Amino acid sequence: MRRRPQMPRLAWEKILWRTILVTLFSVLVSLVISEILLSTFSGGMNGTGAATAILIPIVLGAPMIFYLSLKNFELEQAYKRLEASAARDSLTQCLNHGAFVARTSEILKRTSRQRGALLVIDADHFKSINDRFGHETGDMALKQIATIIRASVRRGDLVGRMGGEEFGVFLPDASATLAHAIAEAIRVNIEHFHFTPNGTHCPLTVSIGGITFDMPMSFGDLFRLADERLYKVKNTGRNSIEMAPIDDTVSDQRNLAHAV
Ligand code: GH3
Ligand code: MG
Ligand code: MG
Repeated sequence: MRRRPQMPRLAWEKILWRTILVTLFSVLVSLVISEILLSTFSGGMNGTGAATAILIPIVLGAPMIFYLSLKNFELEQAYKRLEASAARDSLTQCLNHGAFVARTSEILKRTSRQRGALLVIDADHFKSINDRFGHETGDMALKQIATIIRASVRRGDLVGRMGGEEFGVFLPDASATLAHAIAEAIRVNIEHFHFTPNGTHCPLTVSIGGITFDMPMSFGDLFRLADERLYKVKNTGRNSIEMAPIDDTVSDQRNLAHAV
């Protein structure tokens, strides 16, 4: 039998308050309607009439309101869980491509957050891991890489799987120095991890391209620039980082492009 997830105390309190308030309102409405009806059709409300007008909404309404509030809360929770799992990549549990782009763009639009960095991380020679050890081991390697990336960033940084063996990391508010330190920590932690499928050592390394910015930027521009740096790393060797700040030339180009 599936167990119902435990409800927090605050949720019970909310449901109880809602039940009490709605029941009180129902009692009030019941009293008003009874008063109008009884004074129109008989001599007004007596003690029995008042007791009936009060007790019926309490006895019938309260349990029903409580039950409906409980179901409503459970539905809200299920919807939240569904929404959260739809935003995740099922293999690595990182944000999926769409959710990563959407959440990063949302942060970039907030005027107070005009500094940060975007890293694009690609696993090196991943095809050969699949070829040597099989696709399942490749999946395990991807999961491991994702776990190390998540463990190497700060709380609140975003980690997404961009597709295949490529990940994106968004570091809101990070200075260039901090972003470089985080990128290096990711690279070193992955390089030092002992991945030994079937007892055979299988080295894991990643190449990282990054861009740091201190002006309003769009996700598209940041990704293109970080990706350009990633390809530089791939062309000049692997297991390395290439990061650069947005320079004036780039921002001028961007302004010109936006002006056209
Ligand atoms: P490079 O260092 O130039 O990035 O080489 P690479 O082999 O990593 O790059 P390439 O683009 O040639 O190959 C990517 C490989 O990643 C091929 C593809 O099968 C594998 N891959 C992509 N997604 C997954 C996945 O979800 N699971 C597994 N096991 N492999 C995947
Ligand atoms: Mg690769
Ligand atoms: Mg790739």
